[in-house]
Amino acid sequence: MTRPLRLVILGRQGSGKGTQCVRLVAHYGTVHVSTGDMLRAAITEGTTLGKQADAVMKAGNLVSDDIINGIVEVRLRKDDIRTNGVLLDGFPRTPVQADALERMVGPGGLDAAINLEVPVSVVKERMLLRGRADDTPEAIERRLALYAQETAPLIAWFASRGLLVEVDGLGTEEDVFARLVAAVDARR
Ligand code: AMP
Repeated sequence: MTRPLRLVILGRQGSGKGTQCVRLVAHYGTVHVSTGDMLRAAITEGTTLGKQADAVMKAGNLVSDDIINGIVEVRLRKDDIRTNGVLLDGFPRTPVQADALERMVGPGGLDAAINLEVPVSVVKERMLLRGRADDTPEAIERRLALYAQETAPLIAWFASRGLLVEVDGLGTEEDVFARLVAAVDARR
């Protein structure tokens, strides 16, 4: 048996990453770990972590690397992930987190970091079309600029380790999913 799959997925808002994550975990049987979802759950539950994260997230800032690395490390040690592997979504967000992840999984422990690439012009149009209250043109610009700032160093980090896989996110959901599966299978 091959060892459990360990993947990271990157993609800006509006790239279709959420939809594709659902399909990928169903296909590979891996565990979906979204740090954003974990933090939102902690806020809802009113835990210490939730209290620390709430204001930071509302201000649109990043939760500290120490806190995030701690919760991911604990999560990765659980049996479900040891057995079935993991799809990391929203983590790592900084090179410090990427270094920590490398230590957690050990050398060669990651199969790939997939960058689901959809051009900025297309995601802007998609976000404007969905018409959510927080999707004003200004807010969209700000989130995309932040994402570019956050992600550019990570792309370089993964590329320098030969882990970066670019996948074209344009086209139908089916087409994109087929490309993702082909890209992942090629790395195993
Ligand atoms: P997301 O759902 O991935 O967009 O995350 C929502 C918010 O949670 C982000 O804007 C951050 O404030 C926080 N967050 C999620 N993941 C991380 C992370 N890996 N490092 C720092 N902050 C994070």
